[in-house]
Formats: sequence, structure tokens, C-alpha cells
Amino acid sequence: MASEDLANELAQVEEIALAAIASANTSQEVEDVRLNVLGQKGRLTAVLKSLGQLDAADRPRIGQIVNDIKKRIQGRLDERKEAVYLTALDAKLQSERIDVTLPGIAPRLGHIHPLTQITTEIIDVFYGMGFSVAEGPEVETDYYNFDALNTPANHPARDEQDTFYTNLGPNVLLRSQTSTVQIRVMENNKPPLRIISPGRVYRNEEVNARKYPLFHQLEGLLIDRDVTFGDLKGTLTEFIRLLFGKPLKTRFRPDFFPFTEPSAELDSECPFCNGAGCKTCGHRGWLELLGCGMVDPNVLKGVGIDAEEWSGFAFGMGIERLAMLKYDINDIRNFYTNDLRFLEQF
Ligand SMILES: [Zn+2]
Repeated sequence: MASEDLANELAQVEEIALAAIASANTSQEVEDVRLNVLGQKGRLTAVLKSLGQLDAADRPRIGQIVNDIKKRIQGRLDERKEAVYLTALDAKLQSERIDVTLPGIAPRLGHIHPLTQITTEIIDVFYGMGFSVAEGPEVETDYYNFDALNTPANHPARDEQDTFYTNLGPNVLLRSQTSTVQIRVMENNKPPLRIISPGRVYRNEEVNARKYPLFHQLEGLLIDRDVTFGDLKGTLTEFIRLLFGKPLKTRFRPDFFPFTEPSAELDSECPFCNGAGCKTCGHRGWLELLGCGMVDPNVLKGVGIDAEEWSGFAFGMGIERLAMLKYDINDIRNFYTNDLRFLEQF
């Protein structure tokens, strides 16, 4: 082959190679161009191999041209490879934009509902006095809700606790008081007994700031030998001291409950004004806290406990009422509307 033809062919190879490099858009495309031109089977390599056929006089000149072309092509390949890499890196950084130096987003922490908080506080107080927690069903028969609690069908006290009846049977209802658990515990356990039973109760009542068809009670029952009204008073006075965090005067006013005799309403001195009178206590100086009394012997007889040998006291409190007093809340509906502005205050 004549040296001039070879020089032309080399110029062509270079032109095609440089165009291919310029249009390569990925590092793989750049590498393909390198193999096609400079690789073992590449076009420029083929030209180099054919140098042996040239006249000895032409070899150094053509050899010099080949080397120059090779250098230029290699230079362009390196540039293009770098440019393609930077473009790809830039695209990757744009698409995976996470700033790991930013502070994390803390998850919002909730806390225990105020009704659960006060229930737990009350349970703790009675645990400390040796009571244990007993639970019972919310769907009850009218036997446990009324009859066994000394409230037969014609008893007027039934009207005060109108509840919701189910279609599970003629006498199946939603319990209107946690006193049902007393009966179940006394049926299944022998005295001495010392239990409290917190839980949901239901009343068929119109909703207003003080009443809601669903609320929570906590019932207490103690059965032992020689239990006196003094034991009841001491137990509840200590409970009030621990609940409000300071000693408070108490007073018992006669009241009526079908299943206790005598029965009383327990008032405590208002912890907010120490008896002087304030908004919370309605300027009376006293708060009505709960109902209580000595267990009626008829109730004991009904569950087969010898009322000559055993006696006891019972008390029942509304959890919402105590929470409203303790936290100065004036509308019971706040507990159930799940408004975080309200709940976060406790
Ligand atoms: Zn007061």
C-alpha cells in the first residue's frame, strides 16, 4: 500500500473515531469506541500491524502519524469519559437528594388519657391498702345488675338507673353500675374479700355537660369479720388524702342505696379552697365525692355468705366526676371527643 493512501485512511479513521467519541453518552459507549479503534482488533491497531508492509523509508513518518492520532484519540476518550461520568453523577445526586446532615424529625409522642391516668392513680391507692382488681362483663343480666343488688323489678331505684337493653334476651342489658362485679366476686370467692372493680357503665340518659350515656365507675368491696363504719371512714379518708395529695376533712351524709345499709354520701373538704368556698365547690367548701355504706345483710344472704359471721362495706365512685374535680374540667364531653388541645393539657 502506498504511504499516501495509508495517510488518508488514517485521517479517516481519526475523523470517524472523534465523531463517535463526541456522540458517546455513557461510559459504556465511550469504552465501545475505545475497543473499536484502539483495541486489539481495532481499526488503528490494524493499521499499525500493516506498517511492516511499507517501504522502510516511509515507516518512521507513518509511524509518527499513527502515534499522534492514537494520542489525540486517547486524549478525547479520557475527556469524554470524565464528562459522561460527571453528568451521570449530577443526575444521580439530583434524583437522590437526601441531606443526611439535617436533624431528624422526632415522632409525636402521645400520652395516657386523663381518665386512664386517674383510674391508675386510684388503683394504686387501693393496691397499697391490700385491695386487688376484679373485672366483670359489661353486658349483664338484670339479675346481677339489679336483683342480686337488692333491687327487685318493682323497686323505684331501677328508674334512676335506666340503661340499654339488648336483643340477646329479655333480661340482658348493658350494666348501669360496676356493683355487678361485687356479686360475681362474692359468688365465686369465700371471705375475707378486698376488691376494687373499675370499668365502663351505661345509662339511658340525655347528654349534657354533666351526663353521658357511657362513663366509668370504680367499685370497692371489703368483706371480713367485725367490719365497722369506722373502717369504711378510715379507708375512704386515707384514699382522699392520697388522691388529692393532702389531708382533708371528710363528712358522711345519710343517703340511700338498695345494697348498703346504712348508706352515705361522702364529702371531702374542697382541696382547692380548703373549705373557704370557690368556683369548683360551688362556694360550699365541700365536694361530693362518692357513695358508700355497709353491705346489706340481704345481699350477703343472696350469695350464700353468713351475715352473722361476716360484714363489710362497699363504695362506688364516678371516675369522670373525680377527674373533673381534680383537674377542674367543667364538661364531661371533653373526655370523649378526642380533641388534642384538651387531652394534651394532662
Ligand atoms: Zn372550693
